[in-house]
Amino acid sequence: MPETVLTGPTAAETGRVEAAPVKPKAAKALNSFQIAQAQFDKVAEYLGLDPATRELLRYPLREYQFAIPVRMDNGTVKVFRGFRVQHNDARGPGKGGIRFHPQETVDTVRALSMWMTWKCAVVDIPLGGAKGGVICDPHNLSAREQEQICRGWVRQIARNVGPISDVPAPDVMTNAQHMLWILDEFEHIHGGRYPGFITGKPVHLGGSLGRTEATGYGVVFTLREALKQLGMRPENTSASVQGFGNVAQYAIELYTRLGGRVIAVSCWDQADQCSYTYRKRTGVDLQELLSITDRFGGIGKSKAVELGYELLHGDAWIEQNVEILIPAAIEHQITGDNVGKIAPTVRIIAEGANGPTTLEADTEIQNRGILLIPDFLANAGGVTCSYFEQVQSNMNYFWEKDEVLGKLDVKMTSAYIAVSELARRENLYMRDAAYAIAIGRVAKACHDRGWV
Ligand code: NAD
Repeated sequence: MPETVLTGPTAAETGRVEAAPVKPKAAKALNSFQIAQAQFDKVAEYLGLDPATRELLRYPLREYQFAIPVRMDNGTVKVFRGFRVQHNDARGPGKGGIRFHPQETVDTVRALSMWMTWKCAVVDIPLGGAKGGVICDPHNLSAREQEQICRGWVRQIARNVGPISDVPAPDVMTNAQHMLWILDEFEHIHGGRYPGFITGKPVHLGGSLGRTEATGYGVVFTLREALKQLGMRPENTSASVQGFGNVAQYAIELYTRLGGRVIAVSCWDQADQCSYTYRKRTGVDLQELLSITDRFGGIGKSKAVELGYELLHGDAWIEQNVEILIPAAIEHQITGDNVGKIAPTVRIIAEGANGPTTLEADTEIQNRGILLIPDFLANAGGVTCSYFEQVQSNMNYFWEKDEVLGKLDVKMTSAYIAVSELARRENLYMRDAAYAIAIGRVAKACHDRGWV
């Protein structure tokens, strides 16, 4: 039986105000926030959300945009633009990273904050969605200048964020050091120690064990459940992975421990400014590949060839005769142009990266009946472990790594089962089922609080 297409009743039937329809052809022109809203509209229609709830959830609750003046190393003052967007905190304090990026826009931050709301809701952690950013390029800034941006960012917003309202974390081009500067300035302003204000801290300063592994392992916890669902044994499967960074490396490690075989890995080559796929049909050796990989997840090309890896073009990872594809690099990698190259053997796609699949490719994957584990479910292990870090920091009592990873497994497994059961019961595509659960939970929290 074909899967249900989420169309829902028409506006005339419900008397509701209908959001402007999104034509698939125009999808490429949409910015990230419009895409996030279109995804929301589709599921809101299916859930039959009332107009007020739709209006509330289509937009962030709060947005802060501010100037951060910084005295640069050469003595001049430069003014940077900073953002914090809090999409929804009905289920708990906002949670989301702070990005440093020269092309940052408020629309990207809005979209990412909305996706954080759904991600926290789908794994059922008591947090909302938020995101922050600064328009800047850390490549061209000294450490002192970056420190001033971090401290300036939090000075502008210190009364609107905090351990019980909105909890930031590292993201694109920010790391634990940036977070410690932000935490230190926040504690200076508020006069106390608030380790639960930030996650992604180093372990010796209140970070959680297991955070490094959490996203990649989380992908494989959901993949393991998907294999069970299809009656497949990991040891009888092989996988091809795009990316060889934090998420991919730990996903490969755990999948291999379960008995699976990764036969191809693709990554970006800085020198040639293009990507390559490294294939070993007998299965890649993770430790061997790690020994020739830089800290950005780039594999040494000539050394890989010496070790017997076949060097293929960057898109070849998607064409392999495997049962499992794991896109774990960047967004927009499975597109209308290459989705047709996915081999008939592929049964599962586990989206480790955020937004790796375009709308056009998504429709094709759905039509082919491939079991897709959507990004905001598959890669939610990171935020789940950040939540554990927040809990441990607030208690000032820290768990052993096995305890953290055990709790992570429970959360990811229950989230996967809830989504797959809804998908089966209502005959939905997995992405739609995940959205339906997440949006339904947030809408209920807004109703129960009496907001709408
Ligand atoms: P990373 O920077 O550690 O690694 C990225 C990898 O992708 C590198 O190996 C790089 O070479 C490769 N890559 C980049 N462009 C490529 C291309 N065009 N073709 C092939 N390979 C390419 O990043 P990460 O932390 O592993 O994150 C990967 C993805 O997962 C991102 O989309 C990120 O937003 C998402 N994610 C990460 C986390 C986390 O905790 N790290 C959590 C949730 C989501």
